[in-house]
Amino acid sequence: MEQEMKADSDLDPDPDPKPGRSLTPSAPPGRLDDHEWLVQGRGTKPLPPPLDPVGEPGEQRSRPPFMQHSVPLMTEAAARRALLRFVASRCCYGSRAAGELAVQRLRQLGTYRYRLETFSESRLSEWAFEPFTKPGAAGPPGDAPLDPWDVEVGPPPLFQGQTRRCRVPGSALVRDCHRCHGHGRSKCGVCHGAGRTRCVTCKGSRRRLKQQKRCQLCSGTGRKRCNTCSGRGSKTCATCRGEKKLQHFKQLVIRWRNNVFEFVSEHHLNFPRELLSKVSGENIFKDENVVVYPIIDFPDPEISLASQRAVAEHSAAFATSSRILRQRQTIELIPITEVHCQYSGKPYLYYIYGLENEVRALDYPERCCCGCTVV
Ligand SMILES: [Zn+2]
Ligand SMILES: [Zn+2]
Ligand SMILES: [Zn+2]
Repeated sequence: MEQEMKADSDLDPDPDPKPGRSLTPSAPPGRLDDHEWLVQGRGTKPLPPPLDPVGEPGEQRSRPPFMQHSVPLMTEAAARRALLRFVASRCCYGSRAAGELAVQRLRQLGTYRYRLETFSESRLSEWAFEPFTKPGAAGPPGDAPLDPWDVEVGPPPLFQGQTRRCRVPGSALVRDCHRCHGHGRSKCGVCHGAGRTRCVTCKGSRRRLKQQKRCQLCSGTGRKRCNTCSGRGSKTCATCRGEKKLQHFKQLVIRWRNNVFEFVSEHHLNFPRELLSKVSGENIFKDENVVVYPIIDFPDPEISLASQRAVAEHSAAFATSSRILRQRQTIELIPITEVHCQYSGKPYLYYIYGLENEVRALDYPERCCCGCTVV
């Protein structure tokens, strides 16, 4: 039994504290009661979806049929071509054996791969801020939607991981900048507000060390104008960019994920199953809906069981913390061919798998021992 749950990677929130993108160090002062549904104070938390799911499973609907299927025919010539191509891709495998070995028997098998993809949406809200540049532009607070799930966002591309941020209308609050306390400027960190720093040439001694002459760079004062603040002792506040006020607002972080459950049925071959997840197979079943029903009557009971487990697991994992927007389940038949052959009087066996005709050839008879160091 082999299964895996994985999610598409997506963008993590930007850790840089830039205006407009970042979390405020604390919630803006006052009036938080106006925003009852918004996350209070520091940090964020996912917002549970409403109890009613957006889409109910439809009426009892007919399930798509299982397609007639058989593994694609493998010929001796195709088996040799696949091996030659494989050998050519390996620097220390010689092609002579692949060309000369006598194929004796092809044993064609197939194994099923079941996949359930659950496309889910989760939402969380966070405080963000930006310099307040347009007096009068901020609407009165208090008319934010009561439920973050009521904020309308455009539909995402299905089955693709993505993160989108959007501003919650009516959530803006304008406050004095917490960094500069509304001055628009902050003390220069290099000269600590003095506007002058120690002369680097004479290190404050006012004289050139060797000549004992007056230092010309600081005219013998030992100090120089601070380059960072151009001698002003302060600089424009980086948080409000000199605007003195910040507009705090709620932003919704909407994250779509494609969660994948994968299962490959038992094939009784000396062949690692991990290799099979990298190749494609013949599509024999595809079912897509808001919510799919578990398969119960597939000829291979292992696949039906996997489907039942997958649907139950995904429902338990995603239905409470996020909203399931769509599900898709597929079954593929992955061909595997065992190629029995003879080379230099000895039996030899290799495998061809997937529609791509990938090759697994252990103990290939003609290998040099160069160690394959790439120079
Ligand atoms: Zn300075
Ligand atoms: Zn000097
Ligand atoms: Zn400021």
